Amino acid sequence: MRNLPFNQPGRFYRGNLHTHSTRSDGKLPPEEVVAAYRARGYDFLALTDHFTERFGFPITDTRQWRDDGFTTLLGAELHAPAIEVGEPWHIVAVGLPPDFAHTAPDETGPALAARAAASGAFVGMAHPAWYSLTLDDAEGLAAAHAVEIYNETCANDNGRGESWHLADMLLARGRRTLAYAADDAHFTARPDSFAAWVQVRAAHLDPAALLAALKAGHFYSSQGPELHDITVEGDRLRVACSPAAAIFLSGRGSPHGALLGDGLTEAEFPTGAFSGGYCRVTVVDAAGKRAWSNPIWLDER
Ligand SMILES: [Zn+2]
Ligand SMILES: [Zn+2]
Repeated sequence: MRNLPFNQPGRFYRGNLHTHSTRSDGKLPPEEVVAAYRARGYDFLALTDHFTERFGFPITDTRQWRDDGFTTLLGAELHAPAIEVGEPWHIVAVGLPPDFAHTAPDETGPALAARAAASGAFVGMAHPAWYSLTLDDAEGLAAAHAVEIYNETCANDNGRGESWHLADMLLARGRRTLAYAADDAHFTARPDSFAAWVQVRAAHLDPAALLAALKAGHFYSSQGPELHDITVEGDRLRVACSPAAAIFLSGRGSPHGALLGDGLTEAEFPTGAFSGGYCRVTVVDAAGKRAWSNPIWLDER
C-alpha cells in the first residue's frame, strides 16, 4: 500500500511535531526543550512557537542542535482570523523556511496555510476539538495535509484532546487527510510533554527525509503502543503490534473489526466493507494508551 510506512526503507524515528518554548508562551528556552526531548529518547523535534506579532513572528532556529543522533524541523503555529466560532486559526506548519514572511493583517487562515504548504511545510489543523473547529472550517483549509487527532495539552486543558471525529468526517466526504498526534508542550504545571508522538519511517535521520515521509503519510501516531506492521493482501488486513488489550479497524460509517483480549500482538480483519474507501487501525494497550495508523486507502497500490 502506497501510504503504509512499514515496508518503506529505513526505520522509524520518533518525534514531536507541536511544541512551544520561551520564544512564545512556553516556559523553557529552546535549548532546554530540545535537550528534554532528546533525553527522553526522541529522534527529532519541531519547535512550533506562536507566529504572531506579539512574539515577533518567531521561526525558532533549532538547527544548531542537529547532529548524527538527533535532528530538528523548523516550524511554527500559525494564526489568522477567524474560524466559524470567531476565534483565530491555529495551524501547525513543520518544515518552514527560517525566513518565512510575517503574516499580513488581512491574511486568512486558508491563505496562510496555502503559503506555508507552498514554502515546503507539512501543514496540520491543530487541536480541532479543543476550540470547536467546524467541518466547514476544516473543508476550507484546503492546503492542510493532516488533522492533529490527539493533543496532550488540550486533553489536560479542557478535556478535548482527541479530534478523530473531525478527521473521520473529512474522510467520509472523500478528503484524503492524514492524521498525527502531538504534545503541544509548553512545560507548564499541567502534564503536557512526552505523551503523544509520531513514528516516522525514513531512510535517514534527516530533516528533508522526515518531511517527505510526513507528507507521504509514512508515519503513525502513538501514546505508547507500537505498530510493528500493517499489511493488506486481497481483502485481508493484518496488524502486528506491541501487547494490546484491543485492536480495532474502522472507516467510513459503522463497518468495523474488533479484537479484544490480553496481550494481543496481532489481528486479521476482512476489508470488504471498506472497499472503495478508507480504513484505519487503532491499538489500545492495557493502560488505555493508544496508537493510531494513518487512514489507509484501499484503492492505493
Ligand atoms: Zn494552538
Ligand atoms: Zn500550540
